[in-house]
Amino acid sequence: MLKKLLFCLTLCLFVCGAALAQEESAQTLKAKNAVWLIGDGMGTGAMGLFMQGVRLTQLPQYPDKQTTLERFINASVTGMYFNNTYDTIVTDSAGAATQMASGEFSRPDYLGVNHDGQTVQTLLEEALEHGKAVGVITDVYVADATPAAFLAHTQSRSAKYDIARQLVASGAQVIMGGGLKYFTQKENKKLLNQAKKQGWQVVKTSKELSKIKKGRVLGLFAEEAMPFYGEADRYKQTPTLKEMTEKAVELLSQNENGFVLVVEAGKLDWALHDQEAGPSMWEMINLDETLAYLWNFAKQSTDTLLYVNADHETGVPVFHYRHLDEETFKHKSSQGEMLYGGDTDYVNYPYYQKMFNHKRLLYYVYPEFKKLPKQQQTAEKLQEMADEAFGGHLDLRLNGEVPSYEDLIRRLNDALGVAWATGNHSAGMLLSVAYGPGAQEFAGVYHNTHIKGKFESALGF
Ligand SMILES: [Zn+2]
Repeated sequence: MLKKLLFCLTLCLFVCGAALAQEESAQTLKAKNAVWLIGDGMGTGAMGLFMQGVRLTQLPQYPDKQTTLERFINASVTGMYFNNTYDTIVTDSAGAATQMASGEFSRPDYLGVNHDGQTVQTLLEEALEHGKAVGVITDVYVADATPAAFLAHTQSRSAKYDIARQLVASGAQVIMGGGLKYFTQKENKKLLNQAKKQGWQVVKTSKELSKIKKGRVLGLFAEEAMPFYGEADRYKQTPTLKEMTEKAVELLSQNENGFVLVVEAGKLDWALHDQEAGPSMWEMINLDETLAYLWNFAKQSTDTLLYVNADHETGVPVFHYRHLDEETFKHKSSQGEMLYGGDTDYVNYPYYQKMFNHKRLLYYVYPEFKKLPKQQQTAEKLQEMADEAFGGHLDLRLNGEVPSYEDLIRRLNDALGVAWATGNHSAGMLLSVAYGPGAQEFAGVYHNTHIKGKFESALGF
């Protein structure tokens, strides 16, 4: 009996001890590097539309019909989080990025300052104190809210010239994106010269970027934002988000103490604000290809934490079913579309293909149409120009009339079967995905002011 008891006791001690040791090793395993990929405006609606769209369509980029995002989620730790600011339910990119970067409550419009207007230390500034190299990349402009919140401090996100000076004066090693004009105009006419004196290598094209092999790089590849991804082949001299990310990792990983890199897919938010599902999904492809590169790097390096999230949700696009009027019903039936329940359109699979075929924004097409000589501004011409952007025919049912831009967007979404909750931001809950050492920190439901602390634990700060 005693023997049995002793055996049980020993076994228990052994098992408990092993479990403790295991827990300890999981806790002490720290990340040397961290990469934070932010999809600006990327709510779960946009994520779902993208992942399902790829599953139900045959896109050349996805021969096995699965996004990297889906694979990454399945291999990682997921969490959900809120992003309310100090006293508002809905946020903008400035307030959201400030709260994520600093761990403190802030307000819309505020950058790198808390709700009292006091300067707060951001994750990147803290990483610098720990001897890490840091960088920020975006495909909008570098003085815009998301990248700026990690390195600048001001109560107004529109103070872009001031922000540009703060970026140059920051301790970052890599800053890349658009927004050249904020470094060359008004009071900043000499800023690039000052930047060069401070060791920045200033580059403006893909070719110049490819020649940089070490040191600091300030890449400014467009006067304002960089091109939408669906139109990337029109701008051969402009690097993509993935190309900028590859270079940033190449440069930052030369630092023996590791690095922290923030990458923003910012054009996604713009396409979602415009309520154009196709171009929005091309921005998701943009993010997905960048993620594929980063995930591969994280897998190979083994001491890199890769965290993917959003600052807020924009637009909230979703396919929805509709009861059709008689005319639309007849029109659709005559096109051979399957309809159910008498008059209801549940949206057939091929609509995903139509969505992905649409790469160019009507936001650009409409002003081009309006610049045509008056007699050429006909409904037929507008449909023709729109079809070019759609990469095929999508009947806008203009009935001989030229609509306003807003009405045109409404007709686009009507033709596609997509509904939008808003043309602005929603307070919808967001999904986070973490992979690598410290990923477990990001499990469960949390608030965006907790993100910085989770990074600190993961990085051992
Ligand atoms: Zn936005």
